Amino acid sequence: MIKFKLINHNYNYEIENIIKPFKNYVENIYIESILKNNLCIARIYKDGELQIFKEEKAKDNKKEIKQRLIRTVYHSLCEFTKIKMPWGFLTGIRPTKIVHDMLENNITYEDIKYHLLNFYDIREDKVELMIKVAKKEKIILDKNKDNEISIYIGIPFCPTRCLYCSFTSYSIKNKEILVKDYLNALEKELSFAKEYVKDKTIRSIYVGGGTPTSLNEKQIERLLDLINKNFNVEDIEEFTVEAGRPDTINRKKLELLKEYNVDRISINPQTMNDDTLIKIGRNHTTQDIIRTFYLARDIGHDSINMDLIVGLPGENKKDVENTINRIKELNPDSITVHTMAIKRASRLREALEEYKLTTANEIEEMISVTAKGAKDMGMEPYYLYRQKNMLGNFENVGYSKPSKESIYNIEIMEEKETILALGAGAITKVVDNKTNKIERIPNVKNVEEYVNRIDEMIDRKKKGLI
Ligand code: SF4
Repeated sequence: MIKFKLINHNYNYEIENIIKPFKNYVENIYIESILKNNLCIARIYKDGELQIFKEEKAKDNKKEIKQRLIRTVYHSLCEFTKIKMPWGFLTGIRPTKIVHDMLENNITYEDIKYHLLNFYDIREDKVELMIKVAKKEKIILDKNKDNEISIYIGIPFCPTRCLYCSFTSYSIKNKEILVKDYLNALEKELSFAKEYVKDKTIRSIYVGGGTPTSLNEKQIERLLDLINKNFNVEDIEEFTVEAGRPDTINRKKLELLKEYNVDRISINPQTMNDDTLIKIGRNHTTQDIIRTFYLARDIGHDSINMDLIVGLPGENKKDVENTINRIKELNPDSITVHTMAIKRASRLREALEEYKLTTANEIEEMISVTAKGAKDMGMEPYYLYRQKNMLGNFENVGYSKPSKESIYNIEIMEEKETILALGAGAITKVVDNKTNKIERIPNVKNVEEYVNRIDEMIDRKKKGLI
């Protein structure tokens, strides 16, 4: 157990987050984080005895004071445990944002690298990854036009709930009756969106969830028809639909996606090991994944992403090697490799004592296996993000073949243009590029509430959008 006390400041959330990854490595210590006239101090005590003492002087600036308070606690813990975290004391979920901000201030890549290594204490391979990803993203972001937005549409239904899931998602079986009402409400929101984008360009549309292909053929056709009627889809650079789970996909649905101009889909195995698929509550086999993938190719889908997770319960390095080898045989256009995160609203979190979690060292090896696998398939990392409570405190990385990078994934991560988000639980992000301010306009998460309060959701957008 690590106890801590803040003295003369209240960065409780930040200090707690930096301490959390060390909890597995140390017991019964007490930390003080003290601010005294811009002097940031961290002290570690064990059995009442002072063990480590660190102090750093911050400039008279709120951001730097906060960073140095976190940094002193982090360095004290590193010295005490002899363990360093791969991402140093960086706590945000968008590491590459730092690189873009520094580039905007005309700082060279060399100086950025130096700062990331020496101030944030990020490990060299992670710094290389950040720079590589930022360079890839920059090519896409530099093409953003004034008055351009992207659109997200959420379909919060899935066949069953995965063990680790924390998304807004309902079992389609229990909510089948609601789908019609949901699509009616979405139709209203889409009509509003049509008006809003009248004098704007749409760069990308992303239909996610949930699993949008949980809808039956008629419902999918209605959804795609609504999207095509309200937006000039043929002129949009990228139109993605998450086909997600193979148990929701068939030939007809894949044909409809093609017919209605969807040019990128995601078929997400997470693992290519049948035992694990059962364990995580997915209703399909690896054979279903393979069959669905080839079906999509046969119909002409030429940009297929596959999501994977490392650190799934019960998996070891060999299982991840098996997954990546089988993915290599399929040869998708992009993959996203997530590190398992124990999310608050997940079943996994509730039943944590039933599972043996993967250690940081094992996760590290698994990540190397997937990075090498992506390289073997001719892919490079193009987007990157981190989440709270990830095993080993690592990252999620998207890899793609040249020109198959997802524009939407980069836009949502880097927050350089407005994302208009429709559907239950969707959060619109209004980006003001003049002031660099970002305002969020959330829709209610609950499907029934969304349906009943759709006019209010539209009013929120009318008020908040610029
Ligand atoms: S498919 Fe995705 S959204 Fe659906 S339950 Fe699984 S993790 Fe959640």
